Amino acid sequence: MKPFTFKSLFPGLLLAAMACATSPSVHAAEELVVYCNVQEEWCRPMVTAFEKATGIKVSMTRKSSGETYAQIKAESANPRGDIWWGGTGDPHLQAAEEGLTEAYKSPKLADLQPWAVRQAEASKYRTVGVYAGALGFSFNTVELAKRKLPEPKCWADLIKPEFKGEVQVANPNSSGTSYTLLATLVQIMGEDKAFDYLKALHRNINQYTKSGAAPARAAATGESMIGITFLHDAVTHAVAGAPLKVVAPCEGTGYEIGSMSIIKGAKNMANAKKWYDWALTAEAQDIATVAHSYQNPSNKKAVLPPQAPKLADVKLIDYNFAKYGASAERSRLLSKWDKDIGALPK
Ligand code: PLP
Repeated sequence: MKPFTFKSLFPGLLLAAMACATSPSVHAAEELVVYCNVQEEWCRPMVTAFEKATGIKVSMTRKSSGETYAQIKAESANPRGDIWWGGTGDPHLQAAEEGLTEAYKSPKLADLQPWAVRQAEASKYRTVGVYAGALGFSFNTVELAKRKLPEPKCWADLIKPEFKGEVQVANPNSSGTSYTLLATLVQIMGEDKAFDYLKALHRNINQYTKSGAAPARAAATGESMIGITFLHDAVTHAVAGAPLKVVAPCEGTGYEIGSMSIIKGAKNMANAKKWYDWALTAEAQDIATVAHSYQNPSNKKAVLPPQAPKLADVKLIDYNFAKYGASAERSRLLSKWDKDIGALPK
């Protein structure tokens, strides 16, 4: 009698087991986990367009830049995310230095603005610029007129006593926008004076939000008179009809190179590279306008909407990305902010 074998008893089961053994790669080929740092209104149409273009199913989470950096670091032993798209460049540079992200030279680099390519070169191709935007603030013109206050034009105006409780900005630990403010002030004023300024500003702050763009929304509704954000985040609300005036501060200001990185050890590496190449195309970057996001895109052929604040019109400082995106410096400044500013009573 022919002996029973596992195969003769359970031929179907064996096939199923073989299918299971191969399924992770088949399954993986259809999936991508995206950590998105811009506004939900822009993350969503990006995901939908990518899914349509490639058939790859995307699972997306929206968080702020500092939060995503911390999450990727915490998950580094067993990465859950594949691609980190958007958010300010400093935490992307910090992650690159710490080896949390993967080096990748996209064939699309040739289509990008020089500032976006420099971001790639500076990080040994572990990150790349996807958009740029200048920092500033906006104020609610109706609220300002009601209180008969003069228009704030400079960083120095925001610490005046008449604006007590009227200014909103994010917490620099969670928000890349707010870290850009911290690094900008240090570069404009020197570190000691910048921290004196932040202490004075603290008296006028009504809330440190988690998300960097939230203060523009609060200024748009009048919940806060003034919001410190990237200029483009305020423009979104002004274009939608909010009584907001957008200000590029008179002393000069810093800017961001919104970036993108592939997470080291990504489970869906091939798909992460597909997203990376696609997100650098003009077609993908034009989705920003549909989402009413007014950054300067990195692809030379992408549309620069007429409402987008032109970097050439803003007095920009020569923001030192290498220094302020360095791991030790970003960690040091954030600890100092926690100790000297975050711990102050309200
Ligand atoms: N949303 C938009 C539209 C941005 O331009 C940026 C900056 O990169 C962010 C969000 C990042 O925000 P956060 O300060 O919350 O990290």
